[in-house]
Amino acid sequence: MMSVQTETMVLQGKHSGPYRLQRPLGNGGSAQVYLATHMQSGRHVAIKVVRRPGSDAAIKQLCNEARILPRLHHPHIVRILDFDNTETFSFLVMEYALRGTLRQQYSIGTQLPFPTIARYVQQVAAALQYTHSFGYIHRDVKPDNLLLALDGQAQLSDFGIATTAYYADRIHDKFGTAPYTAPEQADGNPCAASDQYSLAIVAYEWLSGHPPFAGTTPEIIWQHHMAMPPSLASRGRIVPYVVEQVIQRAMAKNPLQRFENVMQFSHRLTWAMQQPICPEQARAVQNTATSRTTLRRTTRNAISPAQNLPQTERTIFSHPATQGDRPMIRQKSRLSC
Ligand code: ADP
Repeated sequence: MMSVQTETMVLQGKHSGPYRLQRPLGNGGSAQVYLATHMQSGRHVAIKVVRRPGSDAAIKQLCNEARILPRLHHPHIVRILDFDNTETFSFLVMEYALRGTLRQQYSIGTQLPFPTIARYVQQVAAALQYTHSFGYIHRDVKPDNLLLALDGQAQLSDFGIATTAYYADRIHDKFGTAPYTAPEQADGNPCAASDQYSLAIVAYEWLSGHPPFAGTTPEIIWQHHMAMPPSLASRGRIVPYVVEQVIQRAMAKNPLQRFENVMQFSHRLTWAMQQPICPEQARAVQNTATSRTTLRRTTRNAISPAQNLPQTERTIFSHPATQGDRPMIRQKSRLSC
């Protein structure tokens, strides 16, 4: 089998129908995507190419995308322009997103401002709601599949594994991308609410810099089923309590406990991000951080062994991410004072 580099060199400069391939834009799991020029008009396009004969799964995914995308006309869904098979390639032609993907724009570790998050979540939620209204489930919502047009609008792309709920239970070949996959989807039972869950993970990542769960694929899937996402505060992002609650609800393990639809999640999150952060919350987070630093310093200097730490006092610290609406009692060391 050819390496991606060899494949790229072989294809570059070649023609796929009326298009000349220019340079690679990205490698998906199943296909290579190139910047290409339409020879007659000179228009730049993105062209997703699968070599023939190639992997059956790759061709199946490309055909799936070519079947679904022409039905979806939405300002936040990438527009398909053409699809064809030649002897050597199957290819799908799309509008070229000049600014690449949101993953390329914001690398892991980047925390985005609230208004930026609200804008992207609203745009992607609108695209998903529209997709759901046709009975399709995207199943692979993640920053790598969100393109950014020149005017800064996000566009949902890569419908390669999109499906309808009817067919979902028959598709076990690819379940999505582990850090963003809803528990029921990992079990082979995706539904529209699975896309809401994935979008909530993306929002969590934009807020805190990282998706909530990490590890090997089985470890991540186990966490989607069993673990509560760490609070955003514990990841160093102070947000209004309601933001934690909204994310928490959209990431409920049981899809029936999520918001009624993805637009409702988006509206609620936008509203939540406009709420004030109460001063006690900011202080408590700051104290916890100070307490941790002091504790680390104390332990390092071996001034006071852990068992001899001074009396602790109890601080009420509402922590919706792990406790629902109930306040959580946290230990706050006097060392932080
Ligand atoms: P796959 O279906 O094989 O996963 P994707 O659709 O995810 O492929 O595309 C792979 C990469 O190609 C994307 O992450 C992105 O970098 C690039 N890409 C895809 N479509 C476009 C486009 N329309 N404009 C610009 N870049 C694109």
